[in-house]
Amino acid sequence: MLKVLKFGGTSVGNLDRIQNVANIIKNIKDDGHDVIAVVSAMSGETNKLVEYAKHFSNNATAHEMDMLLSSGERVTSALLSIALNEQGYETTSMSGREAGIVTDNAHTKARIESIDTTNMKNTINDGKTIIVAGFQGVSLNGRVSTLGRGGSDLTAVAIAGAISADLCEIYTDVDGIYTTDPRIEPKARKLKEISYDEMLELSSLGAKVLQTRSVEMAKKLNVNLVSRSSFEPHIPGTL
Ligand code: ADP
Ligand code: ASP
Ligand code: MG
Repeated sequence: MLKVLKFGGTSVGNLDRIQNVANIIKNIKDDGHDVIAVVSAMSGETNKLVEYAKHFSNNATAHEMDMLLSSGERVTSALLSIALNEQGYETTSMSGREAGIVTDNAHTKARIESIDTTNMKNTINDGKTIIVAGFQGVSLNGRVSTLGRGGSDLTAVAIAGAISADLCEIYTDVDGIYTTDPRIEPKARKLKEISYDEMLELSSLGAKVLQTRSVEMAKKLNVNLVSRSSFEPHIPGTL
């Protein structure tokens, strides 16, 4: 199977967490699957960079913000790739541009126009695992772009759709989709399955567990989505 896995900010929040993600990927590789992993910036990193920009200006251009914010995801993709390489797994990190993700020119909230999967396909055929920096692409005018907050979910779903992956697993800090935010409502009930439309309703009401645009894309491209925990990877998530 070809699996696209996405690891959010808390899941890669420190060096131990990145090692934990490397271990999850190793187990999936050892089971014989091909893996494209999409990573977020380490938790808090994107907000920190926004604050840094504000230190100098409230009017930074959208392009400078994209240059700045896209760096967070690059750090994690390179570190995770280095960690896996060290354990004998052939890996390569890729920026959005290297992964072939082309967006419109709406910097800081760009929409994906197309994905050229040639580079990713060749790399997988060479037996390598790919670690993609989430949340970014290259705009039609040739500059780095970002996809809006929470955009790494979209990167993962869009890649899974473009490359016809068998499964797209979104690893986060809760073990699935609940009837309501389990961190706010202790009586929230975990769902075994959820339809695209029900998930769209939840996320458009503010459940950031999956970015709304990513759910729209999953519905459009009929991507098999699973939401699960990187902290408790043995627990099956929500389909
Ligand atoms: P990541 O950094 O992995 O992208 P997010 O913080 O964006 O993770 O999303 C995960 C969070 O979404 C959970 O910690 C949880 O508090 C919140 N959340 C809100 N609504 C729900 C829900 N219905 N089911 C599960 N989690 C939810
Ligand atoms: N790092 C970006 C954000 O915080 C993208 C993501 O994590 O999905 O919005
Ligand atoms: Mg998120």
